[in-house]
Amino acid sequence: MSSSGWRVMKFGGTSVADADRLRTVADLAAAALAESRVCLVASAASGITDLLLRAARTAETGGDPGPDVEAFRARHAAILEDLAPGFEAGVQARAAAGLQALGDEFAKLASGVGLLLECPPSVRAHLSSLGERASCLLLAALLEARGLAPEALDPRHAIRALGDPLQAEPDLEATAEAFAPRRAGTSRLLVLPGFFAGDAEGRTVLLGRGGSDYSAALAAAALKADLLEIWTDVDGIYSADPRQVPEAFALPALSFEEAMELSHFGAKVLHPKTIQPARAAGIPVRVRNSFRPEHPGTLITAQAPPPEHAARGLTLLEHVALLNVTGAGMKGVPGVAARTFQALAREGINVLLITQGSSECAITLCVAGADGAKAQGALKAAFELDLAAGRLDDVERRDGLSILSVVGEGMRARMGVAGTFFHALSEVGVNIVAIAQGSSERSISAVVRGEDGPRGLRHAHRGFFGTAEVIELYLFGTGTVGGRLVEHLEAQKPRLKARGIELRLCGLARSKGLLLAEGGIDPAQARNGLDGAGAPDPGRVADFVASRKPITPVLVDCTSDEALAGRYGELFAAGLHVVTANKKANAGSYAYWQHLREQARAGQRRFLYETNVGAGLPVISTLQSLLACGDRVRRFEGILSGSLSFLLGRLEEGAAFSGAVREAMDKGFTEPDPRDDLGGQDVGRKALILAREIGLRLEPEAVQVESLLPRDFHEGSVAEFLARLPELDAPFAARMADLKAKGQVLRFIGSIDATGSEPRCGAGLQALDADHPLASVRGGENALAFLTDHYSPRPLVIRGYGAGADVTAAGVLSDILKLATWSQP
Ligand code: ADP
Ligand code: ASP
Ligand code: MG
Repeated sequence: MSSSGWRVMKFGGTSVADADRLRTVADLAAAALAESRVCLVASAASGITDLLLRAARTAETGGDPGPDVEAFRARHAAILEDLAPGFEAGVQARAAAGLQALGDEFAKLASGVGLLLECPPSVRAHLSSLGERASCLLLAALLEARGLAPEALDPRHAIRALGDPLQAEPDLEATAEAFAPRRAGTSRLLVLPGFFAGDAEGRTVLLGRGGSDYSAALAAAALKADLLEIWTDVDGIYSADPRQVPEAFALPALSFEEAMELSHFGAKVLHPKTIQPARAAGIPVRVRNSFRPEHPGTLITAQAPPPEHAARGLTLLEHVALLNVTGAGMKGVPGVAARTFQALAREGINVLLITQGSSECAITLCVAGADGAKAQGALKAAFELDLAAGRLDDVERRDGLSILSVVGEGMRARMGVAGTFFHALSEVGVNIVAIAQGSSERSISAVVRGEDGPRGLRHAHRGFFGTAEVIELYLFGTGTVGGRLVEHLEAQKPRLKARGIELRLCGLARSKGLLLAEGGIDPAQARNGLDGAGAPDPGRVADFVASRKPITPVLVDCTSDEALAGRYGELFAAGLHVVTANKKANAGSYAYWQHLREQARAGQRRFLYETNVGAGLPVISTLQSLLACGDRVRRFEGILSGSLSFLLGRLEEGAAFSGAVREAMDKGFTEPDPRDDLGGQDVGRKALILAREIGLRLEPEAVQVESLLPRDFHEGSVAEFLARLPELDAPFAARMADLKAKGQVLRFIGSIDATGSEPRCGAGLQALDADHPLASVRGGENALAFLTDHYSPRPLVIRGYGAGADVTAAGVLSDILKLATWSQP
């Protein structure tokens, strides 16, 4: 094909958002001018179209659009002020006057809408065009100041369109004719505002939201350009929306058809109609990043190399409604499909997807959520007689759905694409409402519930491209549990990778400092100190996460720090999940307990604390599933302290009390001050956590805790305490002998009784008969017996090692893995 010498370069809202971005546009245009003639198409500066539409709505409803008008003026005036220092006085004055006129036009239109309390489509179209006019005015001034002699085009004359003023259809012939003088002329640089066009009378009409891409494609076709460049804020067209799938990657090449499918099914990076004119005229399209011009972007052509993977890309189209025209008598009704689509076409409703059962008993179709009710009404009207006669059962509607699609040229030839897709969706418990395969075999779509969409998208992406799901960990505490957790993380890496999960340690804190690193911290750092780390303030993690918005950031609290437990609410608000081995948050005031759950729910974050009771034993999750099934806990008794369980076991074997305490200390079974265990506080806290879990609104003071020690043993230093310990040997020996004679054993029991009008919760020593379910528990074990509506008269018992860094760290890890997409049904 002979070269026309034209290149169309379209710059989106973020690419013209401020003076610096405009300077980049001018640089890129200047570079392109060395090779070809250039037509620049620009969007409104980011946020401006929304602002204009908001002002229209405000005025329509009797509000004051004044602040929006002022914001419009101020934003553009500031850009001009920033650009102007290099301008000739004349250029600057003309630009300033142009902006003034646009601001005045905005004010006038808005006040007209305010008087009428109505905004007719033609006025809305006109108002919406002001953003593109302002950005292009600034761009043209800058180009002129650089001596590039731009010619400003008015889209109302250049791009011709018909029909709905908010969603007009272009008239390709008239547009080609309008561009004819430019093709023949000498101008080398054109500036064309995107998004709007002109009808036969030259009135403003819009090409739909995001329509500047389409303007550029129409201009490219009319100029018979050699290349259409879409400059945006990402490196091209990605395997999926990078905001929803952080692992998505830019695709080097695509076919026109693939690009059409992707944009049709929601890849916002291209307006869905953009490709058609380029494809018809055989013009290659390149999508590029104006923030990284050195990146080659994505090239879209007729012949793209086949995709490396079974698919090219995935999309998620949200806010969709599904309509079902059903009826056993449909077989006999002539032209149901034709009438269905005619009825929708008459209302100007775009059908996104269609499927029909082979029995012809149902036609299922999807439309944009905003069109759902209108579409249902149109179909009910069109089939009124058939419905009345019972030939059709109903026209049902379901709202709040999404369409998840997989797109790729190779699908025709490749086996198992559908298998991979549906398998991935079932793995994460995504229910499929309807399925459609494009007749071109270039796409497969699943209609899913809106809330399932993002999870299904991310997991299907993993299924097709083998990318890992990243869970970012911010670990506080590198002591025994935290230290073991880091070892587990390293050891489990290959196994998790095979399951498509990467646990990335992005934050590591201990008392002296907090290290943050987006790319991950070498676990060895955990052992070698935190050089260069800043203050261990959880607020830093909140800021770090809030500014980057990773999908699954998790605070992992392996400390027993009360202050840190007091900050979870703030961390939920910043977008983190919280996994904690620290009991302080759940054992504090009831108000805080409740606040945390509200915060987590509001931010759709999870709060996981399985290790708060029974270390790695599945206590909390078991309890939660019991309660979810409607069971109620009446009574609970449990051995909740591994250290006390060990100690009492040793006494039973005949050890002296003082010796047994020292032994427990030496084995690392106790807190540094063993009185923390012997005082029973720890068991009291666990009982309180369980009590709240089963629905009791208890304050910490309500828990009756009996210490194993006489009161005065709680005074003084650890050394003094240890020195006095032998005083207790004789009394304990006597007690043990007495119990032995009666065939009883001594256990430290946490208990809850929810049967009376005053629920009770406590912790203390109890003498148990040998056949009591908890009598045989010893040697560091925990055992928990729940007497419930369903589990009675014999209780549900959970038993196993309930202390030690290893099982606790494993419990923390298992909580972390609950955050992986595949484990969230
Ligand atoms: P512009 O203002 O430049 O027209 P848009 O916001 O309309 O930019 O489109 C670019 C955005 O599209 C990207 O920032 C990205 O968030 C989103 N997007 C959605 N799907 C994709 C995809 N498959 N590839 C790239 N970007 C996508
Ligand atoms: N400014 C318009 C919009 O926001 C058109 C575009 O950006 O392409 O929809
Ligand atoms: Mg866009």
